[in-house]
Amino acid sequence: MQILDGKFLAAQIKAEIKSEVDNIIAQGKRAPHLVAVLVGSDPASQTYVKSKAKHAESIGIRSSEFILDESTSQSDLMELIEKLNKDNSVDGYIVQLPLPKHLDESKIIEAVDPSKDVDGFHPVNLGLMVAGNSKAFIPATPFGIMEILKRYNIPTAGKKVAVIGRSLIVGTPISILMSRNTEPGNATVTMLHSKSTNVKEVCLDSDIIIAAIGKKNFVTADMVKEGAVIIDVGINRVDGKIYGDVDFEHVAPKCAAITPVPGGVGLLTITSLLQNTLKSYQLKQS
Ligand code: NAP
Repeated sequence: MQILDGKFLAAQIKAEIKSEVDNIIAQGKRAPHLVAVLVGSDPASQTYVKSKAKHAESIGIRSSEFILDESTSQSDLMELIEKLNKDNSVDGYIVQLPLPKHLDESKIIEAVDPSKDVDGFHPVNLGLMVAGNSKAFIPATPFGIMEILKRYNIPTAGKKVAVIGRSLIVGTPISILMSRNTEPGNATVTMLHSKSTNVKEVCLDSDIIIAAIGKKNFVTADMVKEGAVIIDVGINRVDGKIYGDVDFEHVAPKCAAITPVPGGVGLLTITSLLQNTLKSYQLKQS
C-alpha cells in the first residue's frame, strides 16, 4: 500500500512555482499577487486564509488580505469586489466561503472577474472547464486531486471511478475532469450523492474512489475492493481532531494507494490556488 503524500507533492509544486516567480522577479517585473477576502471570524476560515498567505509568501507570491466584519453588507462586499476587479496589481483573489448567512453567495461569486477567479468557482470558469478550454481556472481541490493522480502515475484511463459527493467545488468538477479525454482522465465515472441507493455496490466495483462527503469515516473497509486507489477529500473536525471521509485505519490495508488526512488533498488545494495565481499572472502578460 502506498501513501499518496500531499506534503511531498506540495513541496515539489511550490519549488516549481518559486522557480518561475524567481525568474519573473529577476526580469525586474512585479511578483504575482493573490488577495484573500474573509468576512467574519470563523476559526477554520481564518486558519485557511492565514495558511494560504504563508504558503504564497514562502515562494515569492505577494499576498494581501481583507478581513471584514461579520456584519458587512452585500453592497459593501460588492464594492470591494468591484475594486479588486479593477485593480491591475491584483492577479487573482478568493472570497473565502462560506459567507455569513445574510450575504448572497451566488451573486458574490458571479461578481468576481472570471480572469481573477483563481478559486475557479465562477460559472464562466466552470463552463470553460467543461469545454476543456485551457484558459479555465480549475477549482483548487479537483485540480489538486488531478495533480496527485498525475504525479504518482496512477492509471485512470478505462478505470471505474466512484465520486461520492456532487458539490460545485469538489464532486461535480472532479467527475467532469476524470471523464474528459485527458490524462489523468478517460475514466468511467459514477457520481454518488445523498439520494443514491447503491453507494456501497458502486464503490465495491470501483478502481478509484474519490470521497467528498463531509462525514467522518463514511467509507468503510467493506465498501472497498482489494487494490483500489482512495482519494479522501474530507476534512471533518471532531473533538479538536481532523478526520477524513474514509476510515483510514481499516481501509488502507486493502488499498493500492490512499491519501491521508491530514497531509493529503488539503495541502494540494493550497498549491493549486498558487498555480492558478501564477497562471492568471502569465495570462495577463501574454
Ligand atoms: P458539501 O457541499 O456538503 O457536499 C457533500 C456531498 O456529499 C453532497 O453532494 C451530498 O449529497 C453528499 N452526501 C452527503 N451524505 C451522503 C450520503 N449518505 N451518501 C452519499 N453522498 C452523500 O461538501 P463539499 O464542500 O463538497 O466538501 C466535502 C468534504 O470535503 C468536507 O469534509 C469538506 O470539509 C472537505 N473539503 C476539503 C477540501 C480540501 O482542501 N481537502 C476542500 C473542500 C472541501 P447531496 O448533494 O445529495 O446533498
